[in-house]
Amino acid sequence: MFECIVFATDGSEHARKARDYARNLADLHKARVFVVHAYSSLSDLLGFKDYSEIATHRIANGKKILDEAAADLSAHGLTVETELLEGPTVEAILHVAEIRKAGLIILGARGLGTLKGLLLGSVSHKVLQHAPCPVLIVR
Ligand code: ATP
Ligand code: MG
Repeated sequence: MFECIVFATDGSEHARKARDYARNLADLHKARVFVVHAYSSLSDLLGFKDYSEIATHRIANGKKILDEAAADLSAHGLTVETELLEGPTVEAILHVAEIRKAGLIILGARGLGTLKGLLLGSVSHKVLQHAPCPVLIVR
């Protein structure tokens, strides 16, 4: 049923839990998995003297998050590709879902945010609202 699954990760425990579902569903449906991470937009930092240091750090951190997820998924024999994009996060996830014609987007209910008590974070909430396909939010 799903040929292509988009799994979005911020490297949080919530996203790791969502990854278990991505792994099992991709295996079941013989689906390709696109792992997406969006790093915070850099545009407001342009011109500052530490720009390139911060950019390098954000991109390296994003790659690390993607590599960890991809290593786990491909170790289970899945076909995996990674997509590292500059934020805004919701737009980045939706863009990949549209371009790759995803049949399903999987993400955690919450992420690295620290506000307690919310059922959904801003990313999971907005992706659910605007996704072009079904969404699995894991809690
Ligand atoms: P908020 O960011 O609004 O304070 P939060 O961090 O608790 O809240 P979200 O950011 O909505 O919650 O995270 C929910 C899920 O969305 C995560 O588990 C992850 O799957 C995905 N996600 C969050 N941030 C990113 C990101 N930068 N790149 C890719 N996926 C992300
Ligand atoms: Mg967040």
